[in-house]
Amino acid sequence: MSHTSRAIRIDRPGGPEELKIVEVEVGEPGPGQIRIRHHAVGLNFIDTYQRSGLYALAMPLQLGMEAAGVVEAVGEGVTHLKVGDRAAYASQPPGAYCELRVMPATCVCKLPDTISFETGAAMMLKGLTAQYLLKKTLPAEGLQPGDFVLFHAAAGGVGLIACQWARALGLQLIGTAGSDAKCQLALEHGAAHAINYSTEDFAARVKEITGGKGVKVVYDSVGKDTFEGSLASLRPFGLLASFGNGSGPVPPFNTALLAKGSYYLTRPTLFTHIATRESTQAMADDLFDVVGSGAVKIPIAQRYALADVQQAHRDLEARKTTGCTVLTL
Ligand code: NDP
Repeated sequence: MSHTSRAIRIDRPGGPEELKIVEVEVGEPGPGQIRIRHHAVGLNFIDTYQRSGLYALAMPLQLGMEAAGVVEAVGEGVTHLKVGDRAAYASQPPGAYCELRVMPATCVCKLPDTISFETGAAMMLKGLTAQYLLKKTLPAEGLQPGDFVLFHAAAGGVGLIACQWARALGLQLIGTAGSDAKCQLALEHGAAHAINYSTEDFAARVKEITGGKGVKVVYDSVGKDTFEGSLASLRPFGLLASFGNGSGPVPPFNTALLAKGSYYLTRPTLFTHIATRESTQAMADDLFDVVGSGAVKIPIAQRYALADVQQAHRDLEARKTTGCTVLTL
């Protein structure tokens, strides 16, 4: 049997005006798949990279990487979900900007009853990202309470979750943001210090705050504009986790830059971490615990109707949003 769903599709890469609302047919799930009826959809900066063509994907493309809803049908071989379950996910491939979809079950987790659909939709991609950044990215001894870390775009979706989670772990997170109001927001969410990187030399401020030592890890999702300052903010043997391109991709660079402090560099992505059902569930359980305990509150600061997705993309790219954004259905 076939069902219909509203969905947001692009036929070619480009600006927000390429986002078109269409009706699609949704069939039955095949082996390893489910059909899920969304109650809310999460908006992520990665959606803008996929829309613009920075991340080149086959066209036409139904965008969206994060949502929550109710499982409506289950394909052969899926054992961790059943019809009627509340569920949420961060997905690869994209396709979450819709009411109903068929998708691989591997990345979909049962959503605890205490967590609303909106919260589930807002937190899976961003919260699982904060989880792996703070807990799985630094090898060897990891981060210890009291350690300084630098987190760029700290008032954004991933940022405000990371501020709270870092506080819960006893870390001293230094957050950067593009305005004084955003810096204040980062402080209210657990950042130990905040730097307005539009008006201040953040690397110099980091050195001041850390008594000249630098931080153990820099989490840099801004990319082009912050890369060199991020390296200059590290302590010897520090790690730069370059995990996004908010200002554009990091241009090619001379690896001798790393020799200034025997620095490490990684370019991680959530999708390596959630490649298996086991690792996805373990990370999601950690996220559900920290949200369930109240240590991390998912800050939904914007809501747009699915039909207003063009405006949602414009506002996100214009740095007008803070925290998380959901598309309502
Ligand atoms: P955010 O809500 O953080 O929005 C992006 C923020 O980046 C803006 O609000 C802005 O904050 C900052 N920014 C800095 N320079 C620019 C610029 N030139 N144009 C636009 N924004 C800029 O988005 P998300 O929480 O969805 O994602 C945060 C980042 O993390 C993104 O870069 C995303 O791609 C990355 N990411 C990476 C993942 C991975 O596994 N590799 C997974 C999830 C997210 P301000 O005004 O304060 O500077």
